[in-house]
Amino acid sequence: MLVLIACFTPPASARPPRQHKVKVAGLAFRHIKRVVLDPGHGGTNQGAVAVTGAREKAVTLAIALQVASRLRSKTNVEVILTRDSDEDIGLRNRTRLANAHRGDVFISIHGNSSADTSIEGVEVYFLAADSADSETARLIDREEGVPDGADRKGVPWSLESVLTDLDYAWVQALSERLASNLAGAFAVHLTPRPKVRGVRQAPFGVLKEARMPAVVLEVGYLTHPVEGRALLDEGRQTQLARAVILALAAFDRDMGRARSPQSARPHKAKGAVRQARR
Ligand SMILES: [Zn+2]
Repeated sequence: MLVLIACFTPPASARPPRQHKVKVAGLAFRHIKRVVLDPGHGGTNQGAVAVTGAREKAVTLAIALQVASRLRSKTNVEVILTRDSDEDIGLRNRTRLANAHRGDVFISIHGNSSADTSIEGVEVYFLAADSADSETARLIDREEGVPDGADRKGVPWSLESVLTDLDYAWVQALSERLASNLAGAFAVHLTPRPKVRGVRQAPFGVLKEARMPAVVLEVGYLTHPVEGRALLDEGRQTQLARAVILALAAFDRDMGRARSPQSARPHKAKGAVRQARR
C-alpha cells in the first residue's frame, strides 16, 4: 500500500519570500546539529542515464556537494557526506555511516527516470514498512537493485532492533515532516517551478535502519527532455541546493515545536491524505 499525499499544500514556513532572490545567508539552526547527505549511486553503480547521456551518480554528487558547501559556509550545522567522490560505497553503509556519526537528518539524493519521457517532477519519500506497489517496486529496483539482506515483502531489515516502537513512530513522524518541508521548498523556491509529484512512502532499503529523520529526495526526472537537461545545469543545481537548505531551516523550526510524535505530524489540507492502492 502506498500512502499518497495529494492536494499538496506547502507549509506556511515554506511560502515564498517577498524578495525575488532566495537568501540563505546566516541561517542559525537550533535543533539540527549534523546533516548527513547521501549522493545516490557512485562508481560502477551509475544510476539512471540522463537525456544527454550524463549519469545520475554525477548529478547527485554535484547537488550534494553544493548543499554541503552552502550549509558549511552559511549555517552552523556540520555536514557528513556518505561519499564525496565517484565511488560505490554500498547501500547499507550509507545509513550505517549516518548512524555512526549520530546525524540529526539523513537525505539520500537521487534523480528519477522513466521509459515515458513525458514524466517529470519531484518526489520525496519516507519509509514505509509494508510492501511496495508495482510502480514503487520498480523505482526501488532502479535505485537500489537487490539490497543486501532486504526483505521487500514485509518486515524491514532490523528496524525492531534499531529503534523502539515509540522511537520509530517519532522518527517516522519527523521524516514525514522533513519530506513535506522539502516538497514545499521545491514548490516555492525554484524558478521555473518543477512539478511536485508529492510526498510518498516506500520501503527503500537505504531508509530502513536510519535512527534519525530520513528521506529519499528524487530531484526530478533525468529522462525528461527539459527537466533532464535542467538538472545538469549548475545554476539549477544551485537553486536546488538553496531549496534543500531552506527546507532544512523550516524543519529545524518545526523540530522546536514538536514535543511529541503526534504534534510533529505535518499539517495537512482538508482531505489531503488518501490511501491509494495502485
Ligand atoms: Zn538513484
